[in-house]
Amino acid sequence: MFFIITTLKGNKMELINLKLSVTNCFLIKNKEKYILIDTGYEYEWELFCKRLYEAQVSIHEISHIILTHHHDDHCGLLNKILEENNEIKIVMSYLAKDLLLKGENDQSHGGGLINKRIKLLLSLSLKRIKIMITLKKFIDKKTNLKFPPYKTREKDIIILEETRLKDIGIELDGTIIETPGHTIDSISILFDDGDCIVGDAAANFLQFAGTKYCVIYVCDIDEYYKSWRKIISKNTKQIFPAHGEPFLVNKLKENIGKNKKKNMVMNK
Ligand SMILES: [Zn+2]
Repeated sequence: MFFIITTLKGNKMELINLKLSVTNCFLIKNKEKYILIDTGYEYEWELFCKRLYEAQVSIHEISHIILTHHHDDHCGLLNKILEENNEIKIVMSYLAKDLLLKGENDQSHGGGLINKRIKLLLSLSLKRIKIMITLKKFIDKKTNLKFPPYKTREKDIIILEETRLKDIGIELDGTIIETPGHTIDSISILFDDGDCIVGDAAANFLQFAGTKYCVIYVCDIDEYYKSWRKIISKNTKQIFPAHGEPFLVNKLKENIGKNKKKNMVMNK
């Protein structure tokens, strides 16, 4: 876990990384409350509570959860968290609503693994190589790409288009932007100072396997890079991915289009 202090129009903003097994969740202080971005796998409840405890934040201090997309490693703890604090509002894309109800990572909009090397790595014996274990967690039998279905409540906030945080009652200087490609419902949070929390719209993970700042599974690679162009065209400076360490936006500029559709393989 690390803390990043950044400045938004002269105000200090604390970005706390709640590091779970493979997912970075982020906490941002908003007056007396916290905004949580993403949760984690269903089986990570104890680890999630431990990270929250280490950050000295109570679950009752969380006012909103912004869900970057519906995948098992991002939404797995939604129901569990709401059992503890039902006041929390979930913020999500309008396209996430039905997908969350299904309780399964969407595979009906195309998609595949980013390249052949990833496929090969997944087929190797995983016992001896530590990094493989991390990789394997993405498609672990334990989760089987499933998560507890989530039924949207009336108090939740559905994002239809680019939306200022202040327009949905979050008093922070930033905008939710649509960044599809990894999934149809992917959204990112771009703060006015240039910090952008992207979920899986970019990643800094398994570079040696040729990921080139893409996450390993992508629904539509053309849409994915279109979202990069959108992120670059805004005032983005630093990218905070859900998988891997933060990096500068230049990396997106340098790597855009490097992974080709023809090199992708199906996740079967
Ligand atoms: Zn994902």
